[in-house]
Amino acid sequence: MNLLIMGPPGAGKGTQAEVLVKELNITHISTGDMFRAAIKEGTEMGKKAKEYMDAGQLVPDEVVVGMVKERLAKPDCRNGFLLDGFPRTLAQADALSATLAGMSITLDGVINIAVPRAKLMARLTGRRICRSCGASFHVVFNPPQQEGVCDSCGGELYQRDDDNEATVGNRLDVYEAQTQPLIDYYAQKGQLININGDQEIKQVLEDILANLRK
Ligand SMILES: [Zn+2]
Repeated sequence: MNLLIMGPPGAGKGTQAEVLVKELNITHISTGDMFRAAIKEGTEMGKKAKEYMDAGQLVPDEVVVGMVKERLAKPDCRNGFLLDGFPRTLAQADALSATLAGMSITLDGVINIAVPRAKLMARLTGRRICRSCGASFHVVFNPPQQEGVCDSCGGELYQRDDDNEATVGNRLDVYEAQTQPLIDYYAQKGQLININGDQEIKQVLEDILANLRK
């Protein structure tokens, strides 16, 4: 089964990707890992990507798509793959469609994990860090025994600037603006699978599997 997965920061996409590839016995291709591996192995596209990166330039779509193509041609993708973190733009989505068609690969579905914005905000702004020892807590998922105080060392807990409402809100805005066209694109192709990510991890996985069996 050949799949693509999308989801905003805080939606649990990484967790779902991990369990899903095990469940389906397919290969997880995250763009970050793919980049690093292609450069390390010195593949043709990896070398090209490195030239752009060394020059401090953005790696162009054709090179990124070329890397995806190299990756999908590897034997471990024959049983299927889950592409994660790509495409990010409509141009990339079009290029991916053309590449897959050229390789006679059919995309079986595009999983979109959706979580209401208020829930994402709560998840993403809840982290608290200890000023003394750096231990990490979460006001909802991993609260300290005493509010504002580190369980390990008694130090003061604080919220990093990255985790404040304005920064997180901005990240979510950027994600939505970037992703909505992709959601529309795959919906039009009849490939979009919308999943309610506002549930227990196990239930989210079950919903994904149930949808894929349809
Ligand atoms: Zn501490």
